[in-house]
Amino acid sequence: MIDTNKINSNNKWKGFKDFLVYKTVKEDGVVTSFYLKSLDGNKLPEFIAGQFITVRIKNEDNTFTKPRQYTLSMNSNEEFYRISVKREENGYLSKKLCDEIKEGDNLQITAPLGNFILKDSEKPLVLIGGGIGITPMLTMAYDAINSNREIYFIYSIPNATHHSFRGEIEKLNNNNNFKSTVFYTRPLETEKPGEDFDIKGRISKEWMIENLPKDGQFYFCGPVLFMKTVYHNLIAMGIEKENINFEMFEAGVDITKE
Ligand SMILES: Cc1cc2nc3c(=O)[nH]c(=O)nc-3n(C[C@H](O)[C@H](O)[C@H](O)COP(=O)(O)OP(=O)(O)OC[C@H]3O[C@@H](n4cnc5c(N)ncnc54)[C@H](O)[C@@H]3O)c2cc1C
Repeated sequence: MIDTNKINSNNKWKGFKDFLVYKTVKEDGVVTSFYLKSLDGNKLPEFIAGQFITVRIKNEDNTFTKPRQYTLSMNSNEEFYRISVKREENGYLSKKLCDEIKEGDNLQITAPLGNFILKDSEKPLVLIGGGIGITPMLTMAYDAINSNREIYFIYSIPNATHHSFRGEIEKLNNNNNFKSTVFYTRPLETEKPGEDFDIKGRISKEWMIENLPKDGQFYFCGPVLFMKTVYHNLIAMGIEKENINFEMFEAGVDITKE
């Protein structure tokens, strides 16, 4: 159920507020998670699975870095927030966050917002994440796991170097209504299908037609090319646009165009 209290929560603050980074976790070779706690001890506003916060760092001279958005990547009813940041080699803030921010530092964040949210439905839920686009999918899986919805969780990554949240996804897989499929597009020689991952290669239209429910509600996020392919495969499968939901991490591209 979409709870409007979560959107209008009165402990949402305006603008940026200092938060303590009380834990950092290296999720894989490129992604670091930051666990954040409020410095004033106030209860954190709840959020809806799929929403993001905007983050910036205060510099030593009291100026601020440019802000960037990061999806909350955890269960929505925790006492902390978690974001998971992929280090972009030529990136501005992601590199700073992953290389410089340590436990005990502060980050400035906004309250959660965003319209890419899990809708109230009983339809099978299909969550498809490419690379770091898995963050909203993971939160949505946590949100739906205790419902009766069937959850299809599809994760596409090059190989184990980019395989975040492996333990968390394995735990979710212990639930009868959750089925995870991991694609490695470029497995290392030592990585075996059936052990380290499920399927070698990209998510194909044929695989989607054979394995995904036609009456499902679809959510996806990932790199632009991945999103274009998934979108056009869903259209080819005859999925109605009202059941196709996606989030772009990069601005300025219309994936619905061929
Ligand atoms: C709603 C939303 C949610 C998001 N959630 C997440 C999330 O959960 N996790 C996450 O990691 N990211 C997320 N992002 C993306 C994030 O906001 C940043 O865009 C990302 O971290 C890159 O920011 P940056 O400052 O490091 O890179 P920028 O400096 O903004 O660069 C952006 C891209 O351009 C490339 N680039 C920069 N300079 C050059 C150059 N000179 N030549 C070639 N390429 C260049 C960089 O490699 C990078 O890929 C989200 C974005 C949105 C809009």
